[in-house]
Amino acid sequence: MNIKAIGAFSPTQPLEAMDISRREPGPHDVQIEIAYCGVCHSDIHQVRAQWAGTLYPCVPGHEIVGRVVAMGNHVKQYATGDLVGVGCIVDSCKHCADCDEGLENYCDDMTGTYNFPTPDAPGHTLGGYSQQIVVHERYVLRISHPQEQLAGVAPLLCAGITTYSPLRHWQVGPGKKVGVVGIGGLGHMGIKLAHAMGAQVVAFTTSETKRDAARLLGADEVVVSRHADEMAAHSKSFDFILNTVAAPHNLDAFMSLLKRDGTMTLVGAPATPHDGPEVFNLIMKRRSLAGSMIGGIPQTQEMLDFCAAHGIVADIELIRADQINEAYERMLRGDVHYRFVIDNATLSA
Ligand code: NAP
Ligand code: ZN
Repeated sequence: MNIKAIGAFSPTQPLEAMDISRREPGPHDVQIEIAYCGVCHSDIHQVRAQWAGTLYPCVPGHEIVGRVVAMGNHVKQYATGDLVGVGCIVDSCKHCADCDEGLENYCDDMTGTYNFPTPDAPGHTLGGYSQQIVVHERYVLRISHPQEQLAGVAPLLCAGITTYSPLRHWQVGPGKKVGVVGIGGLGHMGIKLAHAMGAQVVAFTTSETKRDAARLLGADEVVVSRHADEMAAHSKSFDFILNTVAAPHNLDAFMSLLKRDGTMTLVGAPATPHDGPEVFNLIMKRRSLAGSMIGGIPQTQEMLDFCAAHGIVADIELIRADQINEAYERMLRGDVHYRFVIDNATLSA
């Protein structure tokens, strides 16, 4: 079937309207009419070829929510009209150790929602800045939030799970002091989730203007990281720091805030290397520097259910599809409060 989308034909051109095609649903496929799609900083990295290997035309978008409109005859767990989501994964090998453990995000043959090879035209996956998507049922998530919150649910499919997964893995909860660095799409979800898990949360921002707003998200304290005195007040005090910053920066400034045995986990994925860490900043306090990539399908469902139970959605600014290039420029300036979400109904306008 042919549908409308927005995407880029090259790394240097703005995104523009285009027609794309989707496969007819196979026996295990779910066909979804997309209501909303969040705008992740990874979309910018990818569409502008800041990471290796972007395939064009590139239609980004992996924070997808919508309704089931059709399905294959083997699909039992979804029905027409169900509210569902699709995140960063649309396929994997389904039989390796990672897939068996529900960690499809670490499967060597994971197929990302866009920019990954696929038998479907045009030979690589096309994402959620589009009217419809067809996905194997294993990678479809059930949404139990009320319908009126749907636009704010979209960012949970990437920003939510990418922060939830490391917070769970490093056992964030009551009695733990947790830092979240960068208050953008990922960071603001990290603050909300760590707060809901019962941790003491300190937010780090480069934007003085976000100081008050970050407290409303659930931060117990906000540090403007450009101010050395504010940073020094937290020296050697954190159990865990989640670093979501989308650009290279000095990691030692944050490593030195970890107490003995503390861990800083990077989820931000800038195209060029960070400065640091100094080896002595690791060994003197047995500190760890780690990384984490999105989350598996079962944990993504767990995160959605956790958010529904705690009344958590993303704070969003809803945009028309034709505002996407402006939204990218604002994200690059850190001017996002805290996630742009496309109203996909505007794709047909
Ligand atoms: P975003 O909404 O643009 O937020 C990034 C935040 O980083 C900014 O709002 C800003 O917060 C801070 N920042 C500080 N200096 C910056 C600079 N020079 N340039 C840009 N940001 C700067 O981005 P996002 O969607 O949260 O994504 C963050 C990063 O995570 C990206 O690199 C993205 O590709 C990556 N990512 C990784 C995964 C994964 O699986 N590991 C998944 C999704 C996204 P302040 O204003 O508070 O300083
Ligand atoms: Zn993302």
